[in-house]
Amino acid sequence: MRLVGMLNPFALAGSEIASPAQVEATLRELYSSKPHVVATGGIALAGLSAAWSGAVLAGARATIVAATCLFLRVVLEYLYCKHATVPVHQRWVSLFVFGSLVCGLGWGVCGAVLLYGASATTQTITVGVACAIVQGAAGRAFMMPGTAFINVAFVLGLMAIAAYLDGNYVIIPACILYYCFLSSFIVQMVGNRMRQLRAEEMNERLLEELTVKNDLLRVANERLAESAFEDPLTGLANRRKFDAAFDEMLVNAQKHQTSISLMMIDVDHFKRFNDTYGHQAGDRCLQVLSTALNEVISQSGLLARYGGEEFVAILPDSDLSRASVVAERARHAAQVAGMAGMGNCPPPQSVSIGLVSCAVCPGISREMILAAADAALYAAKQQGRNRVCIGSNEGLAPSSAP
Ligand code: GH3
Ligand code: MG
Ligand code: MG
Repeated sequence: MRLVGMLNPFALAGSEIASPAQVEATLRELYSSKPHVVATGGIALAGLSAAWSGAVLAGARATIVAATCLFLRVVLEYLYCKHATVPVHQRWVSLFVFGSLVCGLGWGVCGAVLLYGASATTQTITVGVACAIVQGAAGRAFMMPGTAFINVAFVLGLMAIAAYLDGNYVIIPACILYYCFLSSFIVQMVGNRMRQLRAEEMNERLLEELTVKNDLLRVANERLAESAFEDPLTGLANRRKFDAAFDEMLVNAQKHQTSISLMMIDVDHFKRFNDTYGHQAGDRCLQVLSTALNEVISQSGLLARYGGEEFVAILPDSDLSRASVVAERARHAAQVAGMAGMGNCPPPQSVSIGLVSCAVCPGISREMILAAADAALYAAKQQGRNRVCIGSNEGLAPSSAP
């Protein structure tokens, strides 16, 4: 804040960098009438001293003026607290300046009335109270320095005039010196205030940047976590995700005493397909088949790419009859999945499926079920491919008690 800006009574220090909430908090502090209660008490004390020493009228006048000022400030504070909103409208700043200047003038008048022709004791008390008032005003001037400069000038100026009229000339240079001292104090306070606001602004900006970067990092982490469980070619779950899901389903099946079914799915004669149409067409074929298979299987379970041209599907809570229907539909979906869009128009590819179902009980492991399904797949290949072969679950039956 430049010196010229500091002299503007309507300028809030640092309002250009402060947030609307900070401006509101500053004005709330400025509107507070607590310091005025103390100032009015001090003036009333000096008024009592004046009355004690015979200047009853002067004491009464000063006390009435101070009390009126206090009343005005209390009313203004009430209005501000009740009606002001964020961001604060400029009219609340103007109203504060009005109330503050009226009080500054009032205190100056009180000081002058109490000082003029008063006893030594009253003069001492009055000067003491005035010093406390202007010091207090200077202490709060970092928020609105322009208004404080005028108020301090009102109080010290009017008291200096009264003292001069009373024949006390020394007080004039004393007031000038004191005003200079307070001015430099105010300038320093405003400097500190500006530094504080700038630091807070920087803090806020850094915090915002940090929040944005944290969000980006979180999204990137989520994507990374997802991709760690995804097969890049087909977008299906990969082996890692399948293993974890299989273990979880086994535990659930055992807990709820339900059946579980597993399908090993292998593309028929895929080497030949690759040799005929090329590896890229082979990749595209795997994508087409995985989409067709997943459309059927995702309604009942989880399909994953097991490796190469092999897929695996786990169907929780599925007995053999239900799983057989799903397996047959999956086989058919693969067989009719069109390879349109590929060069050379390759024919549809069939898959063979080895299916096994079992009621999960203690002692049955993932590997055991996989081995049974693999054996069923081998049988499907042996029997001519493009078929579902149901595996024996003999080895998966609960072992009988000795
Ligand atoms: P079968 O009916 O007995 O399963 O015969 P097959 O030719 O499908 O089986 P084989 O194990 O002999 O060949 C599998 C082929 O799958 C060989 C390999 O090049 C191909 N393959 C495995 N992974 C990929 C892949 O990601 N992309 C492509 N294009 N080909 C793959
Ligand atoms: Mg294979
Ligand atoms: Mg194959």
